[in-house]
Amino acid sequence: MRFIGLLLLISLLTFSCDTKERKRVEFPSKPKKVFAPLDSVPTFQADTAYAFIEKQLAFGPRVPNTPEHKNCAAYLDSELKRLGLETEMQSAKVTAFNGDALDIRNIQGRLNPEIKDRILLFAHWDSRPFADRDSEKKNKPILGANDGASGVAVILELLRSIQDYPKKPTIGIDVVFFDAEDYGKPSSSMTGEGNDSWCLGSQYWSENLPVDYLKPKYGILLDMVGAENAVFPKEYASRQFAPELQDKIWGLANDLGYGKLFISEAVGGITDDHIYVSQLAEIPSVDIIHYEPWRRDFGTFHHTHEDNLDVISKPTLGAVGEVLIEFLYRE
Ligand SMILES: [Zn+2]
Repeated sequence: MRFIGLLLLISLLTFSCDTKERKRVEFPSKPKKVFAPLDSVPTFQADTAYAFIEKQLAFGPRVPNTPEHKNCAAYLDSELKRLGLETEMQSAKVTAFNGDALDIRNIQGRLNPEIKDRILLFAHWDSRPFADRDSEKKNKPILGANDGASGVAVILELLRSIQDYPKKPTIGIDVVFFDAEDYGKPSSSMTGEGNDSWCLGSQYWSENLPVDYLKPKYGILLDMVGAENAVFPKEYASRQFAPELQDKIWGLANDLGYGKLFISEAVGGITDDHIYVSQLAEIPSVDIIHYEPWRRDFGTFHHTHEDNLDVISKPTLGAVGEVLIEFLYRE
């Protein structure tokens, strides 16, 4: 993902003015009450989430058109099945910014498909084919421990903890692991040019929804949610699409004592899968993404070879998982 350029930002602003009423997620207004922890929710195990990252990395970089990519797709699909979801792999051919024809796979799963009231949890599972922000080996793919594997791992561990727990959420859960999020054009300017070269999997998915698809009422994207000293500010586009949802997640995180991670600071729009899922699929979505407002940049590992297991922190994974479990069991 990349920071949104000025042009897209302007178009987003316009978009949000025009269609705000239609896209907004409205939560029923309840009387404000002091946060009381639920008496019982599943236990999110950060160790297991970490192991899910290790497992993905063991395949190697997950770059479209490689055997590593293909093998990891099969693994993720089988994991979703094992965790009790109905799965469906969406395969497609898309064209990258450099003309490469990419065989992509969006890995989809549904938990409790009979429930009409649904939420979409998503992350990208591919890793960047180059390390354009590194000073060395710029043309080699990155492992993407945080950028890619961490979001997938948190979702898998969420599903694992729910499967092992007698009480289930009353809301149905759709999961999509999107492909080719990170095959975007290396950015040399902030003009907004090349923005649509990112997020190819979510663009394809959003434009090819089955006619009878029971749309979740909103979505949550997890991207780079595992680094030590992570910070998740309130991203601008998420705020336009689903302000109540954003406030609810950040409020809950704060109540759980994770206000240092889920900071209240607002930052500009970021090109990421939630843009397409919100605009094209019309599922209003928020992005939980590591972005450091004081540096105006993602973490220092971003799109470098440093994005390996060394940057991953179990407490960060655990905090994100705990917030999401609380959220799901309150829906
Ligand atoms: Zn990335």
